[in-house]
Amino acid sequence: MDPIPFNRPYLVGTEAGYIEQAVDAGWLAAGGSFTRRCEGWLREATGSPQVLLTHSCTAALEASALVLGLGPGDEVIMPSFAFVTTGSAFALRGATPVFVDIEPITLNVDPERVRAAVGPATKAIVPVHYAGVGCDMDALLELASERRLKVVEDAAQGLLASRGGRPLGGMGQLGAISFHETKNVTAGEGGALLVNDPALRERAEVVWEKGTDRRRFHRGEVDRYTWTELGSSFGPSEVGAAFLWGQLEAADRITTRRLEIWRRYHEAFADLERDGRVRRPVVPPECVHNAHMYYLLLPDHDARTRFIRELAARDILAVFHYVPLHSSPAGRRLGRPHGELTHTDELSARLVRIPLWTGMDDPTVERVIANVREVIDSYVAPPA
Ligand SMILES: *Cc1c(COP(=O)(O)O)cnc(C)c1O
Repeated sequence: MDPIPFNRPYLVGTEAGYIEQAVDAGWLAAGGSFTRRCEGWLREATGSPQVLLTHSCTAALEASALVLGLGPGDEVIMPSFAFVTTGSAFALRGATPVFVDIEPITLNVDPERVRAAVGPATKAIVPVHYAGVGCDMDALLELASERRLKVVEDAAQGLLASRGGRPLGGMGQLGAISFHETKNVTAGEGGALLVNDPALRERAEVVWEKGTDRRRFHRGEVDRYTWTELGSSFGPSEVGAAFLWGQLEAADRITTRRLEIWRRYHEAFADLERDGRVRRPVVPPECVHNAHMYYLLLPDHDARTRFIRELAARDILAVFHYVPLHSSPAGRRLGRPHGELTHTDELSARLVRIPLWTGMDDPTVERVIANVREVIDSYVAPPA
């Protein structure tokens, strides 16, 4: 039997045709008709009034730091349990990431820990919607407005997910989405910056347009365009946008299939959780998630290491993440922890992600389930 990869990018089938259209149209740089179509789709899906397509979510996060004008002496509070570029995007501007703990139910940032970390240098909060399950945005937005902080949602994993009926990425002043190969909807590399605060609109356009007022020029508001702010080249090529358009058109179908797989896993591992041998993901009732990933929490780090090894021996690739940012070499040098990071340390050592990709057929899903169950049965005893 073929090995089961951890991820396999899913092809809708329309991507190549759209790329051909982009080529025929003779516009390959950012800002062509596919870029505009994708942006329109994303405005509709997220409720964000302004969407700027980018070549990655990392780029969108870096653009956020520029839009907010962050720099040395400024602090940005974020979970330590996050992807590398959640932190590096802000450190790149010279700002200091301040790493706080997660709460153990959803593995999302704990608003109380964020509150405790706010100080005179704090400028922004960057919640990460882990696994497409929304953070407690009510608490975070309230804190932000109390303390006059900006909120940049790292909604890399959050497309088509919501909390309290509000789409992820559409709630903070800014939001960032990813279309990396490992995400639900992909362009290989791709992303989007959601500008939810109209006051940031013009500045965001300038940052996206390489620091120029080119959009004002196109609107006829100035008679030539020039360098006005610090910006960069954040747009994707039309080739990537054309590919993404094919994916976005199928986004609902992609999410539906992923949810089917997620629910099958969830049901299949219910008894293991009942016996106290694993813990399954928790989706709070106010959240609609998008089945971005399925993870299990094993009893400890050794059990996790063994789980990955034994599944690999059965040709099934499971992976772990994240190395907490507060314990990474660059995170230690460029950022600082605030408070205890007990849940981050403990849970990141126990977490394992199992294969979940859109093109998985039912027999493949069942093969993963059977092997996971056998591996757990072989060495994870129920607690005494
Ligand atoms: C994937 C991911 C990113 C980075 O996205 P890219 O599009 O690869 O730059 C950032 N943050 C989180 C939480 C992610 O999962």
